[in-house]
Amino acid sequence: MEIDQACPQCGAPVVLTETDRLLTCPFCKVRLYMSPPDIFRYLIPPAPGNAFNPELVYAPYRRFRGMVFDLRVPNENERVLDLNFLALPSGIFPDTLGLRPQTLRLRPAAFQEEDRCLTPTVDLSDFPARPATPQPPFPGPPRIPPSRTAFVGEVRSLIYAPFYYARGQWHDAVLDRPLASTSGPDPVQEFVWDLKKTWDLHFIPTLCPDCGWDLAAVNESCLLFCPQCRSGWEPCGQGLRRFPFFRQSGGGEDQACFSLPFWYFQLPYDPPDYFRLPVSKLFALPAGQAPPWDPIPTKSSFLVPAFKISPRIFLRLGRAATLTPFPETDLEPGLPAAYHPVTLPAEEALGFIEVLQASLDQETVVLAGSRPRIDSRDWEKKLVFIPFLETPYELIQPRSRFGISKNALNLGRFI
Ligand SMILES: [Zn+2]
Ligand SMILES: [Zn+2]
Repeated sequence: MEIDQACPQCGAPVVLTETDRLLTCPFCKVRLYMSPPDIFRYLIPPAPGNAFNPELVYAPYRRFRGMVFDLRVPNENERVLDLNFLALPSGIFPDTLGLRPQTLRLRPAAFQEEDRCLTPTVDLSDFPARPATPQPPFPGPPRIPPSRTAFVGEVRSLIYAPFYYARGQWHDAVLDRPLASTSGPDPVQEFVWDLKKTWDLHFIPTLCPDCGWDLAAVNESCLLFCPQCRSGWEPCGQGLRRFPFFRQSGGGEDQACFSLPFWYFQLPYDPPDYFRLPVSKLFALPAGQAPPWDPIPTKSSFLVPAFKISPRIFLRLGRAATLTPFPETDLEPGLPAAYHPVTLPAEEALGFIEVLQASLDQETVVLAGSRPRIDSRDWEKKLVFIPFLETPYELIQPRSRFGISKNALNLGRFI
């Protein structure tokens, strides 16, 4: 998906992709980090003849691309999901934009006072409950697995598509033709208009606030690091906020080493125990003996990759890192010499804790009770760089012995 964005410094047109967080202007050479107030919002421009149509209505579509995990079989059905769907209940507008966002150039959703756009009320988690009413030329609604699903998003955005009402019918303002399945009265009075309509995208210079050096980042980076003074920065509102990070020592840094970033989530309190038993122990019990009712503690720390990679490797890496705990004393502040950029924000990684819990639960049987629910806001986060030894084709973690191919790591930037 491509977006036409004007350079905020010189006005030159710059073409971005939807995963870009950095704008680099080929004309004035400025390099800026784009920080939306919540999520990125784009619009599909109407056909030129409709550009000034006073009847235009913009309907919001939610866009998601990322990993989906089935919590019932957490070690199987993982996959990449790429979809968009109408973000409001309506019998008027098509359920999905289909492939249009990929074939048309989008623009940032900068609405004027007179523009009319609708409020998005349907979220990704609500989607399966929606009725299916496919309308050509749009394909039918995309299928999302039933509930018990965890989403780890690479892209979450809103795309506004233009429509207008004329001659007793709703029209698609891009193709300039009537929508196939709608006719009858104009139900405009039922619409919930979005009166805010302005979502300022902040452009933040990518210079180190401490020493003025150019910060190191790739287009998809969500944290920026200073190669000069080795500080870390998180975009926040209209500026950058210092971000603490750690590296795991004792991992063989003296050898050829490349570090991968992980989000380290911890509970600041002792979680309640619950009763589970490893399957292997259950089968090893002598006949007639009742299983021991010892509670096992709920896990209170998880490590989740802080970068994009295919869902299967993401799960295996998260499991391997979580199951190879290291003492807190092994964490020291500091940036490793060679490291992979942070391309998955903590808010998305947080959704993966449930997948790891479900995956680890697969190896135990429930004896009593159920997993206590922990509020996702309770988790404290840290960014930790874990060292991997570098071989010609692979990176190998010396403690967990987990290996990851360099190729998969590079491909992961485009899941
Ligand atoms: Zn420029
Ligand atoms: Zn610096």
